Amino acid sequence: MTGFREAVIDLAAIRGNMAHLRTVIGTPHTMAVVKANAYGHGAIPVALAALAGGADWLGVADIDEALALRDAGIDAPILAWLHDPDADFSAAIDDDVTLGVSSARQLQQVADAAAELGRTASVHLKLETGLSRNGVHEGDWAAVFALAAALERVGLLRVDGVMSHLANASDDDDQQALACFERGLRAARTAGLAPALVHLASSAAALRLPSARFTMVRLGITLYGLSPFADATSADLGLVPAMTLRGRVALVRRVNAGAGVSYDYLWRAPQDSTLVLVPLGYADGIPRQAAGTALVHIRSENYPVVGRVAMDQFVVNLGNEDPGVAVGDEVIVFGDPTTGAPSATDWANAAGTINYEIVTRIGHRVNRRHING
Ligand SMILES: *Cc1c(COP(=O)(O)O)cnc(C)c1O
Repeated sequence: MTGFREAVIDLAAIRGNMAHLRTVIGTPHTMAVVKANAYGHGAIPVALAALAGGADWLGVADIDEALALRDAGIDAPILAWLHDPDADFSAAIDDDVTLGVSSARQLQQVADAAAELGRTASVHLKLETGLSRNGVHEGDWAAVFALAAALERVGLLRVDGVMSHLANASDDDDQQALACFERGLRAARTAGLAPALVHLASSAAALRLPSARFTMVRLGITLYGLSPFADATSADLGLVPAMTLRGRVALVRRVNAGAGVSYDYLWRAPQDSTLVLVPLGYADGIPRQAAGTALVHIRSENYPVVGRVAMDQFVVNLGNEDPGVAVGDEVIVFGDPTTGAPSATDWANAAGTINYEIVTRIGHRVNRRHING
């Protein structure tokens, strides 16, 4: 039987998505982005599945996430690109974690840590090309590239890569960022740097902006089988959603017309109705905003979530007919829409957010069960 609350993660889907994306995109290198516990899917099993599917790099935001992968025995190249001002660069260098570096200050911190260890740190210089987040700004390129080249000459670090990230704002904005990135690459080479890994594109640009592919792409949302585009489904992209969020019917209740349901009586039964209680709430990542618009899948039918989503539970309206749903039946909140269930994207649309947030926000109380490993 299914768990009371669980997210089932199909590792065959992760492997298959990676293999498919590699075929479609065709860059020499492919990074699987497994930050934020692999967008809620479980970093370690997902990292292993992505590598089995052909990824040759792993990407995370911070060093702690990288060290957790190393502690699990994963020895593939790992890049971490977002650092605390007092980040432990020594631990990262000691564990062969490649560091995305966004400033002269970070470059110096990495070099100091490498000097203390007697090691050579591997770094990717991150360039600011229009997102206005981290990355070296164009005005600082000359100074930072010169510093990096000097530190490289004395053996404290190697600039193995140059990277940036797109805003996905519009074609025009992405073209401007791309041009800026190419200026940065030329400036880095002029300064004597020879980065083998050049990477700009995450999922959206990797699929739709071939000129942004360079030698590596960084794939997050598509690895999980979800589409980054409003005009294309997972199936349109040849992807299979890896996460199915499900629970079990905890209670079936018949109510009379007019009965109020859940806090604030946001919804009252318009007719005599059969309601079921599902033991997942906003503590588990169910968006409170989705009440009244989201659907769930029970016994091959989709039914609406009614009334307020509470911390631990929500209510589903089966309507006036009693379809024979019983306590213990499986409730699929979202999964692969080709099975008839709602998708994470449907939930995102119901809640006014994006599919990235729906899967990533699934709470700690929800057991992750990995299948087809
Ligand atoms: C999260 C992230 C990615 C992955 O983006 P997707 O749209 O999920 O493919 C790639 N690069 C960087 C720098 C990121 O922060």
